[in-house]
Amino acid sequence: MNIPFNKPFLTGKETDYIREAIASGWISGDGVFTRKCQAFFRQRYGFQFNLMTTSCTDALEMAAILLNIRDGDEVIIPSFTFVSTANAFHRSGAKIVFADSSEESPNVNAESIARCLSRKTRACVIVHYAGISCNMGPILDLVRQHNLVLIEDAAQAIESTHRDQWLGSFGEMSTFSFHETKNITCGEGGLLVVNDEALRERAEILWHKGTNRGAFSRKEVSKYEWVDTGSSFLPSELCSAFLYAQLEHIERIQKSRVAAAQHYSNLLGPLSARYGFGMPDVPDYGRQNGHMFYLTCSNIDERNALIRFLAEKRVSAVFHYLPLHKSPFYTSFNPRRQLINAERYSDCLIRLPMYFGMGLTEIEYVVSQVEDFYRNIAPG
Ligand SMILES: *Cc1c(COP(=O)(O)O)cnc(C)c1O
Repeated sequence: MNIPFNKPFLTGKETDYIREAIASGWISGDGVFTRKCQAFFRQRYGFQFNLMTTSCTDALEMAAILLNIRDGDEVIIPSFTFVSTANAFHRSGAKIVFADSSEESPNVNAESIARCLSRKTRACVIVHYAGISCNMGPILDLVRQHNLVLIEDAAQAIESTHRDQWLGSFGEMSTFSFHETKNITCGEGGLLVVNDEALRERAEILWHKGTNRGAFSRKEVSKYEWVDTGSSFLPSELCSAFLYAQLEHIERIQKSRVAAAQHYSNLLGPLSARYGFGMPDVPDYGRQNGHMFYLTCSNIDERNALIRFLAEKRVSAVFHYLPLHKSPFYTSFNPRRQLINAERYSDCLIRLPMYFGMGLTEIEYVVSQVEDFYRNIAPG
């Protein structure tokens, strides 16, 4: 059996909607399909103000511009995340201060954020790794107490909740990704959610390349002009048409992914106890979205040996982030530090194959290979 790491899911309607967009004669952005997607996010998640972007990276860049960084401002960012989470704020002139993961999960927590606070801290970015919610209660207390702007990089967290509240609705701003590897995709795409009403007008201007074109199209002004900074953040109708086809099937997609995560969890749970590897900590305060399934090995050698063993059995499993606080770029202008949990997750975490339609047979095959590895190969 050959098990890929990821298989993008297609509903079959993507090309119909793209054809529809072409036939309508409107293929640039902010047309019918852009608005249909945005209306979907308003209705399903209550994201009253959201803007489609060409990627989550772009949405993070918009959030960083909206923060209005002043000289010396610091932004706290998880070390264990994708490079864009940090890059966006670095580009806007912020000093990045990296927070460690928790012991029990790759997510940051209130304590690891608190260790990064200074007089200059302006904002805190959190990542809900694997679509599993950060522990929001203490984090919200902390950001309120220190008057910080909270930004959720919810790239992996569509459809996930903290208690009964959707992830992406906690921060002043939040971002999502529709990259091919995420649950819902249009190849490359993203979303900026602006929960803070005071930032919405400016967000729309940035999105319209620094012009008041949004106000013009609502006939609030008679011409549109250059009024602020901005860039080309707005995806074409072709991307939004593709995405809309996926959104219409979101419940089916989620059902399949969540079931796959559940199967993994049921089958691997007993092995985890027997062989001592770690499983995702899914706290009872959150509902997760089946974005990914990972294990944590005892050390990097065991993890790399497991990746190699699975590859020989044609199961594609991968490691994840190299911690950003140790990256060549960051250490070129910052002292080296140690963040033990982020480094441990980087060394020990392995992501197992996960995609829409992954059946019990495939999952059982992957699990039996993991079991084989631990029974026969792993040292100790
Ligand atoms: C995927 C991902 C991104 C980047 O998303 P793009 O849409 O590819 O720009 C950023 N942050 C996290 C946590 C991600 O998982």
